Amino acid sequence: MTQHDWPSRLSERARACRFSGLWRHRATRQPASRLRDFAGNDYLGLSRDPRLAEAMAEGARHYGGGARASHMVNGHLAVHETLESRIAELTGRSRALLFSTGYMANLGVIQALCDPHTRVFQDRLNHASLLDGARLAGACSRRFHHADLSDLERLLARSPADHPRLVVSDGVFSMDGDVADIPGLAATARRHAAWLMIDDAHGMGVLGERGDGCVGRNYGVDEVAVLVGTLGKGLGTAGAFVAGSEALIEHLIQFARPYIYTTAQPPGVAAATLAALDILAEEPERRARLHALIARFRAAASELGLPLMASATPIQPIVLGDNTTTMAWATRLAERGINVGAIREPTVPRGKARLRITLSAAHADDDIDALIDALAECQERSLMANGEPLA
Ligand SMILES: *Cc1c(COP(=O)(O)O)cnc(C)c1O
Repeated sequence: MTQHDWPSRLSERARACRFSGLWRHRATRQPASRLRDFAGNDYLGLSRDPRLAEAMAEGARHYGGGARASHMVNGHLAVHETLESRIAELTGRSRALLFSTGYMANLGVIQALCDPHTRVFQDRLNHASLLDGARLAGACSRRFHHADLSDLERLLARSPADHPRLVVSDGVFSMDGDVADIPGLAATARRHAAWLMIDDAHGMGVLGERGDGCVGRNYGVDEVAVLVGTLGKGLGTAGAFVAGSEALIEHLIQFARPYIYTTAQPPGVAAATLAALDILAEEPERRARLHALIARFRAAASELGLPLMASATPIQPIVLGDNTTTMAWATRLAERGINVGAIREPTVPRGKARLRITLSAAHADDDIDALIDALAECQERSLMANGEPLA
């Protein structure tokens, strides 16, 4: 086998990946599946709300199925413009800019702001798209220990003063569920004349008085200069936004390649997101319901002695450590009609494999009880297999 032979290159990579037990499989879901779903990010249960489907259809009837071109050519439609204003208003920023996905928003912001002269400081557990953005920019990227302000301070203090600095963090960490210390990050960044960028993909719709996330109106652009949020999780549709000052948004329109060189999102999607924002404002009881379910789950799980993490968000991981145990629990849960995420490296560090359980306002009390019941059974089986308790 030679390295210049593509088929053998592929089969070599596949063999190594299967050998480490890291080969990934996609499961095809039917819409009417009777599985109890604890794996998605549909925290408010909006993705299947008929009002969103209706708004999407209406948007398509009015504007067409697709936007036909990029925003810079002639794909920027009135419904995109309205959605941007609504998001700016919700987040308390002068302006917001729509992107097709959160992955592209993060690539676009970091690529447009940074170059090889820039220093980027990232939390070790940041989302892959943030790390990839720094690569696309050719920027020098340093990672600080998770949620460790003194490590960030140390890295900032060591970086040359004449280089622009950008501090970047997830708002809610997607695999751990904890929330970043926004005031601490903002104060540290300010001491070193750095801008702070927060990716609040999992906070939007879920946290904050009005569902405006962990930043939203609580922190202005002086504290969080760049705010990213996604629309495919709590808001139930698709796409993402960047919110900030007039100058930031204009800079992105001019220079963010993942903004410029792609077709604008389908107008029906933007129309559905507007409907989701209406529901967010009119039905605060969804957020209240979600937080009640989080409390119910945590109380029952801690009674069982399951290794919960310090998370007050709908992301409730149970870190089991090794891949085999994690897959065995996920398989047993699936046999009982319960779908959870089984997350392994490289998405999380080696030895930190986990069940990623996510809660939604659409769950019934009975769903939570069934989940707890099944987890109790897995725990009992693990105890019998190992003869020692978890955690
Ligand atoms: C999901 C996620 C993204 C990517 O958003 P998409 O719209 O799915 O591309 C970015 N950042 C974080 C923290 C995420 O969890």
